[in-house]
Amino acid sequence: MPVEIVEGDITTQQVDVIVNAANTSLLGGGGVDGAIHRRGGPEILAECRKLRAGHYGRGLKVGQAVATTAGRLPARWVVHTVGPVWSDTEDRSALLADCHRNSLRVAASLGAVTVAFPAISTGIYRWPLESAAKIALETVTAELAADTSVQTVRFVLFGQQAYTVFRTHLP
Ligand code: ADP
Repeated sequence: MPVEIVEGDITTQQVDVIVNAANTSLLGGGGVDGAIHRRGGPEILAECRKLRAGHYGRGLKVGQAVATTAGRLPARWVVHTVGPVWSDTEDRSALLADCHRNSLRVAASLGAVTVAFPAISTGIYRWPLESAAKIALETVTAELAADTSVQTVRFVLFGQQAYTVFRTHLP
């Protein structure tokens, strides 16, 4: 199966790329971002600071993605992307799809074969799990059907509820 769904902690995954649900500052935060920086060590933050000092002076825009070292994580790179905050009044689905598509394109530009994603935007950014799962799975499935080096995408869900929702929506 090119798309795998597992329950667990993304920071323990042995893959080429771990995708981080970062924020615009790229300088760390809570949730999965905090866990990645804690376990990955200061090398990741050091590269993020360099990005901020260079091309990303204003930070990373919502929907975009950029790679750094994975530091001490059992992966080769971390691809940071910024998910949209859920809105009751505005449809930001295209931005959530962009996060997944652009993360996979950055991973492919590095030659990555295996990529792990968390459930982007479903924590502090409050995106409903059902909707996030549909968008994530549809976008990733479409991208894998295109010409890419990536062969396996593993969604790593924190907790049984998120796991079950993603499992239910796997095409
Ligand atoms: P966002 O700001 O994009 O909502 P969060 O980090 O708050 O990002 O949450 C995104 C998802 O990541 C949530 O479903 C949360 O439960 C999950 N999460 C938190 N820590 C981990 C982890 N170590 N591994 C995998 N998923 C995690």
